[in-house]
Amino acid sequence: MTLPLREELRGIEPYGAPQLDVPVALNVNENPYGPSEAVVADVAAAVASVTGTLNRYPDREFTALRVALADYLGHGVAPEHVWAANGSNEVMLQILQAFGGPGRVAVSFAPTYSMYPEYARDASTGWVVGHREDDFSLDVEHALAVIAEHRPTVVLLPSPNNPTGTALPLDTVKAVCAAAPGVVVIDEAYGEFRRTGTPSALELLASTPNLIVSRTMSKAFALAGARLGYLAASTEICDALRVVRLPYHLSAVTQAVAGVALRHADELLARVDDLRAERDATVSWLREQGLEVADSDANFCLFGRFEDRHAVWQGLLDQGVLIRETGPDGWLRVSVGTPEEMAAFKAALLEVLGR
Ligand code: PMP
Repeated sequence: MTLPLREELRGIEPYGAPQLDVPVALNVNENPYGPSEAVVADVAAAVASVTGTLNRYPDREFTALRVALADYLGHGVAPEHVWAANGSNEVMLQILQAFGGPGRVAVSFAPTYSMYPEYARDASTGWVVGHREDDFSLDVEHALAVIAEHRPTVVLLPSPNNPTGTALPLDTVKAVCAAAPGVVVIDEAYGEFRRTGTPSALELLASTPNLIVSRTMSKAFALAGARLGYLAASTEICDALRVVRLPYHLSAVTQAVAGVALRHADELLARVDDLRAERDATVSWLREQGLEVADSDANFCLFGRFEDRHAVWQGLLDQGVLIRETGPDGWLRVSVGTPEEMAAFKAALLEVLGR
């Protein structure tokens, strides 16, 4: 029988980077530093303590976790301004479910995160994509023109952007929020990695009712395996998301693990400074090799340009270094790993370039 699959899903492969078992994995912007023994012990104790009550559904409103997330975000964010789900991927799908839908349009500007059109498709929302400039910045006039033409109910703007690493100036965020007829999501999945002097959109939250600032514990908190994404927005926006979420979507285990990670925020975030320094060193090194590198405020670098980027990607993989073939043609993206991993990446790249 032919399955009654939705037309727009026919022939589509599931999204995802290859999960290969390689010595040096620098392909999905993970944090290379695993939790310390102290964090492992605390997580294990917290999980043990909820295990005895796993016959019961978890706190549907994840009250304690919302308090801890609000506390971490600061900027006057209260628990009722916080929402969370299983990764910011789920948070953003919920945003599309609540604010998109048939007859409505979501907008972003390419090159950008390749999941955005998937959220739109899955929420039966029209998808319109504008462009970024050659240096991957966003031209405000262009953004406002696209918004005026398509009247999107959701605008998705990552800052820093994936895969380019480009952060948005707050003036751009302000202008887009003022012009947008719907909600504007500033996706700060990599927010903690910004260079000094690039502020968070959280600063605008109190004065901007249609702004949503999305974050994740997958990157800076080194918690990709636990799946915890969250956002800050008005109480009204959070209440709308409560309507579309599945009941008990955040397991008791997830809530406990995320709570422990937040209690260890200082220790986990200390590694962010190391990663930012390693990122800046990687950008400089790649430029010294005569390559083009996008300015990066994230934990990865987009570099190029290669006539045959696939050959470069494959050449690195043959030496046990997995990076990501993504972004505009000719470019490759490498996540920032430990100094040892970056040394392996550099050696393998020199080999591929025949230097
Ligand atoms: N936003 C951006 C820009 C990302 O690059 C990613 C992950 N690669 C996410 C959101 C989703 O991350 P998670 O679901 O792990 O929170």
